[in-house]
Amino acid sequence: MDIKVTLNPNPKAKPTDTSTLGFGKIFTDHMFRWTWDKDQGWHDARIVPFERLSIHPASTVLHYGSEIFEGLKAYRRADGKVQLFRPIENIRRMNNSAERLCLPEMPEDDAMQALLEFVRLEQDWTPADKGTSLYLRPFMFGDDESLGVHAVHHAEFLIIASPVGSYYKEGLNPVKIMIEDQDVRAVRGGTGYAKCGGNYAASNRAGERAEQMGYSQVLWLDGVERKYIEEVGAMNVMFKIGDEIVTPKLTGSILPGITRKSCIELLKDEGYNINERLLPVEELAQAMTDGTLEEAWGCGTAAVISPIGELCYKEHKYTVNNNEIGELSQHLYDTVTGIQWGEIEDKYGWTVEV
Ligand SMILES: *Cc1c(COP(=O)(O)O)cnc(C)c1O
Repeated sequence: MDIKVTLNPNPKAKPTDTSTLGFGKIFTDHMFRWTWDKDQGWHDARIVPFERLSIHPASTVLHYGSEIFEGLKAYRRADGKVQLFRPIENIRRMNNSAERLCLPEMPEDDAMQALLEFVRLEQDWTPADKGTSLYLRPFMFGDDESLGVHAVHHAEFLIIASPVGSYYKEGLNPVKIMIEDQDVRAVRGGTGYAKCGGNYAASNRAGERAEQMGYSQVLWLDGVERKYIEEVGAMNVMFKIGDEIVTPKLTGSILPGITRKSCIELLKDEGYNINERLLPVEELAQAMTDGTLEEAWGCGTAAVISPIGELCYKEHKYTVNNNEIGELSQHLYDTVTGIQWGEIEDKYGWTVEV
């Protein structure tokens, strides 16, 4: 695929103090852009200066929410090179999301080429301080200029990039999570397994309520019976109950996280007893009451591993592992981040140098 590059004539100064970066607030000098329509397919792959988009007020995305996205990071290794973590998984998941939302799928090779060429051009924006990275946000939306409701005939795919600070400034920090028993995020047959903006729009109310009560995110229950544990806001979730590690199995309403997948593969490889299964919230409450719940943690690209120190269910507060970081949470964090930043050997072939 031929990618036309138009360089930004006015590149910005790169941030020098990474402690004030935060998440997704400043963007690099360029963006990747690719256009699709029903007649021509994908065409006009290009890297252009970062700029505002101009879209028609009747664009599909603005009215009917035809939008999907991905999130991954470029990491700077000690030798100065920049690498990605399992990017093919993001491309495949985006194609699955596209299929669900009736947006166009992308040829894997071309999408990978776009990602690599874009990151290569912007790689100087990848900060080097511990825990920092260049966050990459591929996204796609339908922009038919008509109010008719149907599968899209015209779409745009973009990749933007943002240098981000360390998620943990003073080491791993346990979070407080509220189990949500009113709103639901997704149902089987819906869009739960797709990474689409609409899922987030529908999640915000519960998230806001939890925040007002001093919790950082909600833990969702299944949308039909409100009985089984699903996932946390933007993370999958794992529990160590006795000597079993449990994570909810992918039933269609849970986002198949790449961090989740990596943790499962690592734990299996290290001989742990890890099971993907249905986990009733009552079983979890019982394990918290009788003390067999040893550790709980969320896993996702942003924080990698987020130990859970407190869970609230039906106004009952449970402390997990004395509100401290568990041994296994710490081990997973060290191993996954070690591979991502190239500090430990990647024997699984997960990393891709740009
Ligand atoms: C992106 C996301 C995750 C985590 O997926 P990773 O690939 O590990 O980053 C989990 N849940 C939801 C709802 C998400 O959007």
